Amino acid sequence: MFDDLTDLYQQVILEHAKSPRNFRVMEDATCVANGTNPLCGDNYTVYLKMDGDVVKDASFQGSGCAISKASASLLTAAIKGKTRADVELLFDKVQNMVTTGEADESVGKLAAFAGVHKFPARVKCAILSWHAAKSAAQGIAETVSTEEPAE
Ligand code: ZN
Repeated sequence: MFDDLTDLYQQVILEHAKSPRNFRVMEDATCVANGTNPLCGDNYTVYLKMDGDVVKDASFQGSGCAISKASASLLTAAIKGKTRADVELLFDKVQNMVTTGEADESVGKLAAFAGVHKFPARVKCAILSWHAAKSAAQGIAETVSTEEPAE
């Protein structure tokens, strides 16, 4: 049973990596943030169209590994229609899930990434687009990196 579930989650990730949703430049985006994960070579730009406090539209562009691409794809689908506060709440849930493996039932399809916690090197791949989306939603248009900037 558990193996079946793992396979199902892997299918979700592979399917989104192959055919990412909302994979486009958004010309009329109100908030844009870039995210890089130098350890893996993942590099994405997340575009949001905010209407006040609500994410009206979300898209992304860039390149990277299957996990990072699938994560960005599911992210853009998950945050559409959500408020800035909802996005931050979801960010915390996803971050907790990919580091502990414990999925909150409210995360829906994002639970596909719970298994990532078994592969610490891939946690940054899974959370990268979330960092970018959080920055974009806060109106901080800058490059976020999974690595601390060198002082
Ligand atoms: Zn990666």
